[in-house]
Amino acid sequence: MTTTPRIAIVGAGPGGLLCARVLQRHGLEVAVYDTDSGVHARDAGGTLDLKADSGQIALEDAGLLAQFRTLARPEGQAKTSLDQHGTVLSAFVPEEQDEAANEIDRGQLRALLAEHLTAGTVRWGHKLHTATPLPDGTHRLEFTNGTVSEADLLIGADGAWSRVRPLLTDATPHYSGISFLDARFDDVDLRHPRVAKLVGTGHMFATDNAGRALIGQRNSNGHVRGYVAMRTDLDWCDQAGLDLEDRTATQRFLRTEFAGWSDDLMPFITDGDGGFVNRPIHVLPAPLEWEHRPGVTLLGDAAHVMSPWGGFGVNLAMLDGAELARAVAEEPTVDDAIVRYETVMLPRAGEYAVGANQAMERFFATKDFDPADIPDPAAEHRQSIVAATEYRRLNPLAAGSAWTLRFRTPGGEKRSTLVFDTTTGTLDGIPVENLLRTGDDLKFTARITTPFKLKITCTAAIDGDTMTGTAKAAMMAIAFTGTRGAAS
Ligand SMILES: Cc1cc2nc3c(=O)[nH]c(=O)nc-3n(C[C@H](O)[C@H](O)[C@H](O)COP(=O)(O)OP(=O)(O)OC[C@H]3O[C@@H](n4cnc5c(N)ncnc54)[C@H](O)[C@@H]3O)c2cc1C
Repeated sequence: MTTTPRIAIVGAGPGGLLCARVLQRHGLEVAVYDTDSGVHARDAGGTLDLKADSGQIALEDAGLLAQFRTLARPEGQAKTSLDQHGTVLSAFVPEEQDEAANEIDRGQLRALLAEHLTAGTVRWGHKLHTATPLPDGTHRLEFTNGTVSEADLLIGADGAWSRVRPLLTDATPHYSGISFLDARFDDVDLRHPRVAKLVGTGHMFATDNAGRALIGQRNSNGHVRGYVAMRTDLDWCDQAGLDLEDRTATQRFLRTEFAGWSDDLMPFITDGDGGFVNRPIHVLPAPLEWEHRPGVTLLGDAAHVMSPWGGFGVNLAMLDGAELARAVAEEPTVDDAIVRYETVMLPRAGEYAVGANQAMERFFATKDFDPADIPDPAAEHRQSIVAATEYRRLNPLAAGSAWTLRFRTPGGEKRSTLVFDTTTGTLDGIPVENLLRTGDDLKFTARITTPFKLKITCTAAIDGDTMTGTAKAAMMAIAFTGTRGAAS
């Protein structure tokens, strides 16, 4: 970026916070506005799996992958599928080293991201009321608390019911035909042993192949989040004359809806702590595209809210955030950055959204049991690892990318490993300085210790899987080549 833009992100969900963190790692200033009064102001929801090829790449860009791993629950990747009689149809237990879809509580993830922003970055208690485009391509933001600000780059990260989205498209989310009722179980191992046994360390999915499902997900600290899910009308409560505040009446209604289901599964309906929360699943039309407009873009659910099937929503929100921040840091203007970001984000989100929406539709369809419908988490995890490698191959300067450099020194070839972090990197484990990336051109200063201590300034051009460059020291210049992948 040639000038320092005023960047405003509306929405401090995982996508907006991740974007802000990566922008700050690139030395850019940003303000994040959220309607919540604080990071812990509301129940952030259940558990999320962060995938190797998306959420974890974003966390690496944010420099927070190690911190994430200290909170994450690899054992939470376990999954059991049942029918309505309680018969186990499939069970997946992750291998010890498997972290391809590591689980974390939503609240922990949000706090982790918020805590690693410069103090004061998030302006809590700021609900966006209106965003108005100004003739010079900037935007004026008016908040319900009376605050007004202006931004050169406005990023709508404000979720499914985004107030920024109308600046780009008339599309609005529509009801998918599926409603989730959210239930909570505390201290499960002691107080709800039957739920604890069914859910195990990870997830339990039970379906009758007739539009009904019970889902249980283990969270940290002995909590389980349960979902009673049904294909039903949006106004099903009104039609049934049901007030969800009346737990007894709601449980009675659900027991009737789930008649014929095994009693072993009924604790998900009858034993919850606290009430039921209705979460009708709304999705945006997919694939969704819009014409580029100056100074404004969207990320995460604001751009592509989709069915939760497959667990892509938060992963894409975070990857969007990382990629947008990278583009802003590397492109000469805000609009170049938006075009670069949207060119990748829109088709990718469209593909995932179509797949996720169809998968949920299939799951809740009335049909005969087909073993092919049971997911294969082991294969999905392998695929995610392969996709992560491919992502880094296509994004040669993304955090975590490793290169083997071969220096042609007078004493013969010397091999070194260059690993990128978001804004810096290491050469043979020693941090490099003044790392500058412009497109595929690279410049950095490194201190080498063999064959003798020397400070070198390297310039190189990257072309696909190779790079070619020169390392200059006080009295000499030597050529080097690089290939993707760490030296073994
Ligand atoms: C039942 C259910 C289960 C799900 N399970 C999974 C899962 O397992 N895995 C997964 O990946 N995804 C899952 N998702 C989807 C996931 O929750 C979202 O994709 C993800 O939270 C999107 O992140 P985001 O940052 O884009 O938006 P959000 O998390 O929605 O954050 C938006 C933020 O914007 C703020 N905001 C909204 N309006 C305004 C305004 N006018 N002014 C200021 N601030 C505003 C909100 O307070 C919020 O903090 C699930 C969704 C549902 C409904």
